Amino acid sequence: MKVDFHTHLATLEALPEVFFEGQRDNIRRLMPPDLPAKVRERVPDRFGLGPEDALGDRHVAEMDAAGIDLAVSLIIDFGLAFPGQVPELTDLFATHRALADRHPGRFLVFAGVDPRRGVPGLELFERSLVDWGCRGLKLYPPCGFSPSDRRLDPFYALCAEHRAPVVIHTGPTTPKLSFAHTHPSDVDDAAWRFPGVDFVLAHGAVVHTEAAALLAEYRPNVYLDTSGFQAEHRRGRWGSTLGRLKERGLVRKILYGTDWPVHRQYGTQATWIERLAGGDGGPLSPAEVRWILEDNPREILGLER
Ligand SMILES: [Zn+2]
Repeated sequence: MKVDFHTHLATLEALPEVFFEGQRDNIRRLMPPDLPAKVRERVPDRFGLGPEDALGDRHVAEMDAAGIDLAVSLIIDFGLAFPGQVPELTDLFATHRALADRHPGRFLVFAGVDPRRGVPGLELFERSLVDWGCRGLKLYPPCGFSPSDRRLDPFYALCAEHRAPVVIHTGPTTPKLSFAHTHPSDVDDAAWRFPGVDFVLAHGAVVHTEAAALLAEYRPNVYLDTSGFQAEHRRGRWGSTLGRLKERGLVRKILYGTDWPVHRQYGTQATWIERLAGGDGGPLSPAEVRWILEDNPREILGLER
């Protein structure tokens, strides 16, 4: 069972327009000064997202072509950070439940709740675990909170009770949000206080890698996902990044993640599976690729072999 541990629904409901706005500005400012205006304008409006795929059909077709059996679909709660620009959180949960129902056995949904929603947010999270089959929690600290914020303690207590892993965004993101609270060390206090909960540092295999690796090396309940490795691959650095993680003995702490539909403009899901091992002569053996794609996620998710 091959698992993509980090995906999103390819809709403007799940990844709102405002999320992509600052990124376009950033890309343009990095361009050489003598670039023709035509090229400058060519930066796509919805950087990376591609066509809408509200039902997940396009995603499943790509998973099939890539041999991916199961994808974790992460809900991000942007509601407090981008008020009025995303649907009601309960509606977003319903859209993700519909995705899982339409493609039985292909998606595990991780609920996303901003801890500042208080008791109603906590109740929504509990209902998602107990009644709706959600299997974990997704947190997006750039929205304005620390992953070690004490207001998350009751959420983590539920995760411990339900054996639900937590995926936490780390590293920079859209310039529309703060980068505070996005360093791997921001997760440490929570991971220390909740040893019975598995914490996945999203993008941890590619950003702040030294700090992320240190945490994964010394905390049994901290893992890294590969999402964003596509950019590393394009820069020709993925093989060496992966090699350093392997040297530290961390292959069992890595989970395969693509961040679908982000990066889709640079390749299909099948392309990324091919490139996971770091290319020809890459550092990973076939067995180690299997750990990342199959054994590691299976253990964290408590799936049958
Ligand atoms: Zn993501």
